[in-house]
Amino acid sequence: MSSLPVSFMSMRKVIPSSQRHIKKVISSLVVILMTIGATGCAIEPVAMSPQTAERLKSQPPIRFLLTFDDGPARPRTDNSTLSILGTLARNPLQPGVKALFFVQTRSADAGETEFGRDILRREVDEGHLLGFHTATPHHANHRFLSPDAFEQTLNDGIADIVSIQGSPPKLVRPPFWNYDKRTFAAYQLRGMHMLLTDLSANDGKIYGIKGSLRRRSNMLHLLTAVRERIAAGELPAVDGSIPVVVSFHDINSYTADHMAEYLQILMDCAQAVQLPTAVKPFYDDKAALERAALARSVRDSTQAVRLPGFWNWLWE
Ligand SMILES: [Zn+2]
Repeated sequence: MSSLPVSFMSMRKVIPSSQRHIKKVISSLVVILMTIGATGCAIEPVAMSPQTAERLKSQPPIRFLLTFDDGPARPRTDNSTLSILGTLARNPLQPGVKALFFVQTRSADAGETEFGRDILRREVDEGHLLGFHTATPHHANHRFLSPDAFEQTLNDGIADIVSIQGSPPKLVRPPFWNYDKRTFAAYQLRGMHMLLTDLSANDGKIYGIKGSLRRRSNMLHLLTAVRERIAAGELPAVDGSIPVVVSFHDINSYTADHMAEYLQILMDCAQAVQLPTAVKPFYDDKAALERAALARSVRDSTQAVRLPGFWNWLWE
């Protein structure tokens, strides 16, 4: 990390010489920054109190429950959702990983098209689970829709998912992580349980963030907080392990390009915070995945929750 100021200084020195030099320096700077991002927190164990260590002894191992929001992705070539499906199926850590996709069934030029529906069908065919996110052309906040439009989007989204999956969605993730008593009750009335997240890649494209140079340190920081909650007995065990919910956005091509690396980062961070993982650290069975997600869903709209990034601050 200490090389960074030196590079800035050397960049200032060479700027007058030639454009080629500038390009070279900028590209080395990018490489340095990327290296810092990727190795920002190597697998140094994260210290914990003796009390936490003692309490963790009686807790089962964790299992990562991968979720993806906002898909299907729009591009007809190099489609990031399809790329992610490929990585989940084939990667060095655990082939055949199954995930929960919170989909936008009528997103403009994506979910609303035959191409988009084909992707959703493929997700189901490959053993993944669909949850509801939106059924509007854009990423509409459910709280700000008129009562009629909200009703319509719920009916449309559920019908769309039934037509693709053969069964209604049991899980919902509200756009912008935003909900209130009314929207929460409407989800419940339709048999949908709201799932938030423990770890977030903070890769939502909507907010203008595509790449993440802090992807490793961010996950480590979040998982350290999860460790304390596990030690405090706050997270339920399901089928012998504690599901830890992880959120990505499959419409983000950066996320898609780094998916295998993200899986490794999760394993590295678990090791660093000294949380043992299940023999199969990721879910590989749709039914088990659904049981785990339901167990982690929010029970009550008045329950205090932790939202990723700045969302708690914004919605409070
Ligand atoms: Zn979203």
